Amino acid sequence: MDFIPLTSPDIRDEDIEAVVKVLRSGMLVQAQNVLDFEASMAAFTHAEHAIAVSNGTATLHLALVALGIKAGDEVIVPALSYVATANVVELVGATPVFVDVDIDTFNIDVNALEAKITARTKAIIPVHEFGLACDIETVMQLAQKHNLVVIEDAACALGAMQNGKQTGSFGTFGSFSFHPRKAVSSGEGGILTTSDEALAAKVRILRNHGVEMQDGKMEFVEAGFNYRLTDFQAALVNSQLKRLPQIIAYKNELAEVYFNEISHAAIKLPVVPSDRNHTWQTFHVVLDTVFDRDKVIADLREKGIGTNYGAQCIPAQQYYLKKYGLDFAKEFPNALRAFRSGLAIPIYEKLQKEQIRQIASVLNKLSR
Ligand SMILES: *Cc1c(COP(=O)(O)O)cnc(C)c1O
Repeated sequence: MDFIPLTSPDIRDEDIEAVVKVLRSGMLVQAQNVLDFEASMAAFTHAEHAIAVSNGTATLHLALVALGIKAGDEVIVPALSYVATANVVELVGATPVFVDVDIDTFNIDVNALEAKITARTKAIIPVHEFGLACDIETVMQLAQKHNLVVIEDAACALGAMQNGKQTGSFGTFGSFSFHPRKAVSSGEGGILTTSDEALAAKVRILRNHGVEMQDGKMEFVEAGFNYRLTDFQAALVNSQLKRLPQIIAYKNELAEVYFNEISHAAIKLPVVPSDRNHTWQTFHVVLDTVFDRDKVIADLREKGIGTNYGAQCIPAQQYYLKKYGLDFAKEFPNALRAFRSGLAIPIYEKLQKEQIRQIASVLNKLSR
């Protein structure tokens, strides 16, 4: 069997031609393709504004800066995520407050959230982990009750919904990434969605060095960033966006094969609540603790299958441990379990169902 990597982006000839067209045009940064990208993302998420930026971390950073979140403020984040979700809170000088996750869905445990709200809490950044919407409806209810802003980290969840409503359109902001590990990719890239007109205007200014056009003149009204997206990156992702519904549908077919074929008692499969759809950015299983997960990754590699751990238990990472010294094993047992025993296995458009069956059969023979 040929080696099956954990992930491999599906870049087709038509995607490459779209990029080449931009390169030949000479309009390389934030031109028509960026405008088209923003328009399609606004239409897709049903948000009024979509702002394209250089990556998914920049989107979260811009959202926090535009909201004026600063030192002394607390922002609630899940203890299990890609570390960027908490890093951006640190970048604006605020304090991330961690909430454990649910071990079935790997999403923020909404039952544990309210206890973490204090007088200093300003915002919640729920993550739609691995491509499954979190219980964003309950997060929104809690946020409204306590007058908090919600920034949805939908970096890996483009197309994920709860009760038919797109992630990224519940909170004040929705943040998406187009890194090659996500469903469609611009190499690097991000989209920030919002239906707040004033915040959208502020984000556009902050994205581009703090420039605002006043009576046809450039005025520098903020100490902004350069978080612009190139037009050839936008062309690359625009071309793939046309296939997004098929990509999500096909990944669901592949996931179904895993559900039907994986039967090892020591492998816990992910759970999809009935009010949500999964977009399968990652197919993430949890191994029984009798297994040494890192040894399993090495063994699978030898057998021709690329796997990896899924996400970080953020309070257990050196920077956060040194700064906050949280007893993560006691406070975030599910996040720690997913971080230590979680395994992301291959799922992407270029894979055939037969390969998924082969992977499942190798997993079913796992032994210590
Ligand atoms: C990928 C990801 C990010 C970061 O996006 P980049 O585009 O790589 O900066 C942030 N949060 C989550 C949950 C992610 O999966």
